[in-house]
Order: sequence, then structure tokens, then C-alpha cells
Amino acid sequence: MRLIDGRAIAAAISADVTATTERLRAGGVTPTLAVVVPTDDEATAWYVRSIQRTAAKVGIECLVDQLADPGGDELAKRLDAHSHDPAVHGIICQTPLPEGVVLDDIAGHIDPAKDVDGANPTCLGRLAAGLSTYAPATAAAVLEILRREEVPLTGARAVVVGRSTVVGKPAALLLLAENATVTVCHSRTVDLPATCAEADVLVLAIGRAQMIDASYVKPGAVVIDVGTNPTDDGSIVGDADQESVATRAGALTPVPGGVGPVTTMLLMRHTVDAATHLSASG
Ligand code: NAP
Repeated sequence: MRLIDGRAIAAAISADVTATTERLRAGGVTPTLAVVVPTDDEATAWYVRSIQRTAAKVGIECLVDQLADPGGDELAKRLDAHSHDPAVHGIICQTPLPEGVVLDDIAGHIDPAKDVDGANPTCLGRLAAGLSTYAPATAAAVLEILRREEVPLTGARAVVVGRSTVVGKPAALLLLAENATVTVCHSRTVDLPATCAEADVLVLAIGRAQMIDASYVKPGAVVIDVGTNPTDDGSIVGDADQESVATRAGALTPVPGGVGPVTTMLLMRHTVDAATHLSASG
């Protein structure tokens, strides 16, 4: 069983991103990512710090817009402001949102040209229609890992467990675009282990600590574990029971150190892509 090294994949992408930021800066453009943070949630603060560190490493300016429990209107106004600011090229809005605010209601205020985490509902529509767009970074990371690991997707059976707008659905659409035969499972799926065990590529985006053991895995399958589940001792574990899955899978992404670092680096890549397109068109 091969443990896939997400940090090494992120480092490989980082070299390209850094080269692009250097080119942009030499041309007078400072690629800039606005991170709107609507709560003082601790896990969010930890993630935002990791975005800031990664951005600094690749030469991207990271503007953290910390808000104090805003209502939906105030949040929408901040997203409008960043959308209209020519110095900002990428915008992400962190979750969780304050009580009563729904992401789908406010994400439409992110300019699609700056929507580097594919949050605007038009993104999912464009993905479904096969049009160019920024895919949600986590879903894009799943595909980036499969591509870099040279996993054949044409004609492969892919099973995605989870149907959220941010991970499961876009990952399924991206796999379909690569000509995989895709099944999407969820909490009402009957006989989940049998369905998963048909997969050549099994994507786990459930949010249930170590729920998936070897009985869900076809021998030799590639398992991409998106789950990040906090444990009592302050660490995180995936949706896969790594030890058990390793007895049957051909390859597996660990948690931590798998999908997470690739996701953060793809946010950076999307930001420099946005800066490149916006500076060329503006
Ligand atoms: P979510 O919105 O809660 O969606 C979870 C999905 O899993 C739902 O579709 C749900 O089905 C399904 N599910 C829940 N329990 C199940 C069960 N027992 N059997 C089968 N399906 C089940 O979560 P999310 O935002 O997609 O995130 C999923 C996981 O990925 C979480 O652990 C999250 O922290 C992690 N994540 C990681 C990254 C990263 O960069 N690594 C980024 C984003 C999220 P229903 O639709 O029927 O409820």
C-alpha cells in the first residue's frame, strides 16, 4: 500500500505558483487574496493562519478581514467591497458563518472572476455544464492528487461518499469530466460497504472519524480521504480507519498530510490564476 504524500504534491505545485507570483510582481501586480472571517471560531483561526503562512511562502499578499459576528447584509457588503476592489484578486469566506447566515445566500456576492474557492452557486452550475470556473479547492485537490499519482480515471469506477456542495458534488462532477463512472453516496445509501467495494477510486467526504474500514475497499483501490475529524487529544483523523484500509487499498491519502496541504496550495494557484486573468483584462 502506497501512502500518498500530500505535502510533497503541495511543494511541487508551490514551485509553479511562486514562479507565477514573481512574474506578476515584476509586472507591478501583487497577487492578493482576501480572507473574510466572520466568527472567532478556533478551528477557523488555525486554518486562516495556515493560509497566511502558505501565502507568504509563495509571495501572495493575504488580507484577513476579521469581522465580529456580522449579519448577512454586512457580510454581503464586505464580499461586494472585495469584489469591486481592483487590488484584490481572490476572495474566500470562511465557515462557520454566524447563526442565521447561510453561505448559499451570501456567496453570490463573490465575483466569479475572484471566486477562488468556488463558493458562488454559479460555480457548481458551470462545473455541471462543463464550463471553465474555479472548482472548490478541496474537490480540485482530489483530482490534482489523482492526476499527479497517475491514477487512470477513464472508465474507472469512482465512488464519492458525501454530497455536499463544497466537496462531494464538485468532486463527483470533476471525476465525471475525467470519464470515470461515478456513484455518489450519502447517509441514505443502502448497503454503503458493498457500493464502496466496487470502487477503483474511493473518495471519502463524510466527516465521520475512521468510519471506513477494509470491508468498504476493493483490493488495490485508491482511497482519497477528505475527512478531517477532530479527536479528544487535539489531533485530527480522517474518515478512513487508516490501519484497516491499508490492508486492502493500493494507495491512500493520510490525514493529516494528504488532501489538506494540496487544498491550501490550490487556493494559492487559483489566486495567481485570477490575478493573471484580471490583470490581463483590466
Ligand atoms: P457535510 O456537508 O457535513 O457533508 C457530509 C456528507 O456525508 C453528507 O452528504 C452526508 O449525507 C454524508 N454522510 C454523513 N454520514 C454518513 C454516513 N453514515 N454514511 C454515508 N454518508 C454519510 O461535510 P463536508 O463539508 O462535505 O465535509 C466532509 C468532510 O471533509 C469533513 O470531515 C470536513 O471537515 C472535511 N473537509 C476537508 C477539507 C480539506 O481540505 N481536507 C475541506 C473541506 C471539508 P447526507 O447528505 O445524506 O446528509
